Amino acid sequence: MQEKNQLKYPWDEPPEPGRTLEIAPGVRWLAMPMPGSLAHINLYLLEDKHGWWVVDTGLSSEEVTNWWHEIFNEELGGRPVLGVICTHFHPDHIGQSAMITDYYRCPLYMTRSEYYQARAFSGSGPGHHSSWLGQDFYTRAGMPPEYLTQLAKAWEQRAAENMTMPTMPSGYERMVDGQVITIGEHDWQVVVGSGHSPEHACLYCAALKIMISGDQILPIITSNVSVHPTEPNANPLKDWMDSLDDLLSTPADTLVLPAHNLPFYGVRDRLRGLISHHDDRLLAIEEACVEPQIAKDLLPVLFARELDPRQMMMALGEAIAHLHLLMHRNRIERTLAEDGQYRFHSIAPDLHRRATPEAHDAPSDGPVMV
Ligand SMILES: [Zn+2]
Repeated sequence: MQEKNQLKYPWDEPPEPGRTLEIAPGVRWLAMPMPGSLAHINLYLLEDKHGWWVVDTGLSSEEVTNWWHEIFNEELGGRPVLGVICTHFHPDHIGQSAMITDYYRCPLYMTRSEYYQARAFSGSGPGHHSSWLGQDFYTRAGMPPEYLTQLAKAWEQRAAENMTMPTMPSGYERMVDGQVITIGEHDWQVVVGSGHSPEHACLYCAALKIMISGDQILPIITSNVSVHPTEPNANPLKDWMDSLDDLLSTPADTLVLPAHNLPFYGVRDRLRGLISHHDDRLLAIEEACVEPQIAKDLLPVLFARELDPRQMMMALGEAIAHLHLLMHRNRIERTLAEDGQYRFHSIAPDLHRRATPEAHDAPSDGPVMV
């Protein structure tokens, strides 16, 4: 058992690629390789009566596909995958969802916002006329097989030039906050958070005291919470802070199974640490904005290291997310200057008092009134 930042880690390292490790009855852990400092993504298998459910799927590389086939052949006891659950739309989570659901003709479960965000960012995928989902759907509706061929031809004529590689399954089953999915002996409750992605699903099993947390709760990495040009006035850090508050009701003795780093105990300590981290960064930015600032010049307030262009995009998105939450809280104001750049300026009269703990008002000596 390792201990780091007050959290307890029952395992020192993830399983080898192609192998699984039992975490609890009916819950298995596997890892798939990822480039860069993340190194791996944790994926989980949940055992049902006649097969398995997969939670998150890894990047869409050939290497990961091959590892999956190793898992299918060696680790599932000859039983099929019955369903795939993706916590959110990021490529390391959805990358193999089409491969697995096509291989086993099994459904993909996601929240609605995450599924459509994935579709929007990864091309259209195969049309419903050309996938097994379409076959099943029209067969079950009583349509003859020729109908699909006719539909496919009509579609080809219209869309031939813009067909992209199939990256997402062409249909899904919707998960909503609070829904309970029964898998084998266990009930898993969908717990939705937001901020890192629009409608991120965690899965909580009260009987096992386990939370599969995706990227919503990570023990070491701070999940990216960014404003992007697709929604330039978004306020994702408000969603993120609200979600962290809500997740504080998670029982303190929960084993958290995150998508990165290692499984850990100490969920409330971690959530409080994240809340305090963002509160501190918000205050630092507010203090910096006593002099009007442009977003780019606030990066050194948040990040000490050199940033490559992709990291710069994420860092700038984070800085803007903090600025937008401060605007929402009426603590800074934004003006569009003549040079076309936004200037952010602190306006809260109590900034000095909040930033200087010894500057609180003295206790009142007046009588206590009703
Ligand atoms: Zn993510």
